[in-house]
Amino acid sequence: MSDTIFSKIINKEIPAEILYEDDLALAFKDINPQAPIHFLVIPKKPIATINDIQVEDKALVGHLYWVAATIAKEQGFAEDGYRAVMNCNEDGGQTVYHIHLHVLAGKALGWPPY
Ligand code: C5P
Repeated sequence: MSDTIFSKIINKEIPAEILYEDDLALAFKDINPQAPIHFLVIPKKPIATINDIQVEDKALVGHLYWVAATIAKEQGFAEDGYRAVMNCNEDGGQTVYHIHLHVLAGKALGWPPY
Protein backbone atom coordinates (compact mmCIF):
# COMPACT_ATOMS: atom_id res chain seq x y z
CA MET A 1 0.00 0.00 0.00
CA SER A 2 1.10 3.59 -0.45
CA ASP A 3 2.45 5.56 2.48
CA THR A 4 0.09 7.64 4.57
CA ILE A 5 0.71 10.46 7.01
CA PHE A 6 0.96 7.82 9.74
CA SER A 7 4.09 6.36 8.08
CA LYS A 8 5.64 9.82 8.48
CA ILE A 9 4.67 9.85 12.16
CA ILE A 10 6.16 6.36 12.64
CA ASN A 11 9.36 7.51 10.92
CA LYS A 12 9.42 10.75 12.98
CA GLU A 13 9.31 12.81 9.79
CA ILE A 14 6.42 14.81 11.23
CA PRO A 15 5.80 15.48 14.92
CA ALA A 16 3.21 13.81 17.12
CA GLU A 17 2.65 13.65 20.88
CA ILE A 18 3.74 10.07 21.39
CA LEU A 19 2.33 8.23 24.42
CA TYR A 20 3.74 4.75 23.82
CA GLU A 21 6.05 3.02 21.38
CA ASP A 22 7.40 -0.49 20.94
CA ASP A 23 8.60 -2.61 18.02
CA LEU A 24 5.07 -3.25 16.80
CA ALA A 25 2.95 -0.25 17.66
CA LEU A 26 2.81 3.48 18.31
CA ALA A 27 0.26 5.50 20.28
CA PHE A 28 -0.07 9.27 19.92
CA LYS A 29 -2.57 12.01 20.72
CA ASP A 30 -5.13 12.71 18.01
CA ILE A 31 -4.45 16.11 16.43
CA ASN A 32 -8.21 16.87 16.36
CA PRO A 33 -9.58 15.38 19.60
CA GLN A 34 -13.24 14.34 19.71
CA ALA A 35 -13.28 13.77 23.50
CA PRO A 36 -11.31 15.12 26.48
CA ILE A 37 -8.92 12.18 25.94
CA HIS A 38 -8.42 11.01 22.35
CA PHE A 39 -5.41 9.11 21.10
CA LEU A 40 -4.68 6.66 18.31
CA VAL A 41 -2.94 3.31 18.50
CA ILE A 42 -1.47 2.17 15.20
CA PRO A 43 0.59 -0.80 14.04
CA LYS A 44 3.98 0.06 12.59
CA LYS A 45 3.13 -2.34 9.78
CA PRO A 46 0.99 -0.44 7.28
CA ILE A 47 -2.40 -2.16 6.87
CA ALA A 48 -4.88 -0.04 4.89
CA THR A 49 -8.22 -1.05 6.41
CA ILE A 50 -9.74 -3.64 8.73
CA ASN A 51 -10.59 -5.56 5.55
CA ASP A 52 -6.88 -5.93 4.81
CA ILE A 53 -6.00 -7.64 8.11
CA GLN A 54 -4.42 -10.99 7.26
CA VAL A 55 -4.41 -14.13 9.38
CA GLU A 56 -0.80 -13.41 10.37
CA ASP A 57 -1.86 -9.96 11.66
CA LYS A 58 -4.33 -11.25 14.26
CA ALA A 59 -1.92 -11.04 17.18
CA LEU A 60 -0.78 -7.60 16.04
CA VAL A 61 -4.35 -6.27 16.10
CA GLY A 62 -4.83 -7.78 19.57
CA HIS A 63 -1.65 -6.00 20.61
CA LEU A 64 -3.20 -2.65 19.66
CA TYR A 65 -5.99 -3.29 22.20
CA TRP A 66 -3.41 -4.29 24.82
CA VAL A 67 -1.58 -0.99 24.24
CA ALA A 68 -4.87 0.92 24.56
CA ALA A 69 -5.70 -0.77 27.87
CA THR A 70 -2.16 -0.31 29.20
CA ILE A 71 -2.30 3.44 28.55
CA ALA A 72 -5.83 3.63 30.01
CA LYS A 73 -4.58 2.03 33.24
CA GLU A 74 -1.46 4.23 33.34
CA GLN A 75 -3.49 7.39 32.78
CA GLY A 76 -6.15 6.34 35.31
CA PHE A 77 -9.29 6.27 33.14
CA ALA A 78 -9.56 2.50 32.66
CA GLU A 79 -12.08 2.05 35.47
CA ASP A 80 -14.30 4.96 34.39
CA GLY A 81 -14.29 3.55 30.87
CA TYR A 82 -13.52 4.45 27.32
CA ARG A 83 -14.23 3.56 23.70
CA ALA A 84 -11.69 1.87 21.41
CA VAL A 85 -12.84 1.73 17.80
CA MET A 86 -11.57 1.50 14.24
CA ASN A 87 -13.37 3.16 11.37
CA CYS A 88 -13.45 1.29 8.06
CA ASN A 89 -13.81 2.84 4.61
CA GLU A 90 -16.12 5.67 3.64
CA ASP A 91 -19.29 4.79 5.53
CA GLY A 92 -17.21 4.05 8.62
CA GLY A 93 -15.68 7.52 8.44
CA GLN A 94 -12.12 6.39 7.68
CA THR A 95 -9.90 9.14 6.30
CA VAL A 96 -6.39 7.75 6.86
CA TYR A 97 -5.79 4.40 5.18
CA HIS A 98 -3.47 2.90 7.80
CA ILE A 99 -5.51 1.14 10.48
CA HIS A 100 -5.75 2.94 13.79
CA LEU A 101 -7.59 2.35 17.01
CA HIS A 102 -9.28 5.51 18.27
CA VAL A 103 -9.26 5.59 22.07
CA LEU A 104 -11.78 8.11 23.42
CA ALA A 105 -12.34 8.87 27.09
CA GLY A 106 -12.80 11.54 29.73
CA LYS A 107 -16.61 11.83 29.55
CA ALA A 108 -19.68 9.63 29.17
CA LEU A 109 -19.67 9.00 25.42
CA GLY A 110 -22.86 8.96 23.39
CA TRP A 111 -24.23 5.86 21.69
CA PRO A 112 -25.21 5.24 18.92
CA PRO A 113 -22.59 7.34 17.09
CA TYR A 114 -24.94 9.26 14.75
O1 C5P B 1 -10.82 7.14 11.49
P1 C5P B 1 -10.20 8.26 10.68
O2 C5P B 1 -9.37 7.74 9.53
O3 C5P B 1 -11.17 9.31 10.24
O4 C5P B 1 -9.24 8.96 11.70
C1 C5P B 1 -8.08 9.64 11.34
C2 C5P B 1 -7.65 10.39 12.55
O5 C5P B 1 -6.30 10.77 12.42
C3 C5P B 1 -8.46 11.67 12.80
O6 C5P B 1 -9.06 11.60 14.09
C4 C5P B 1 -7.38 12.76 12.71
O7 C5P B 1 -7.62 13.83 13.59
C5 C5P B 1 -6.13 11.99 13.05
N1 C5P B 1 -4.87 12.57 12.59
C6 C5P B 1 -3.87 12.87 13.52
N2 C5P B 1 -2.68 13.40 13.09
C7 C5P B 1 -2.47 13.64 11.80
C8 C5P B 1 -3.48 13.35 10.84
C9 C5P B 1 -4.67 12.81 11.27
O8 C5P B 1 -4.07 12.66 14.72
N3 C5P B 1 -1.32 14.19 11.43
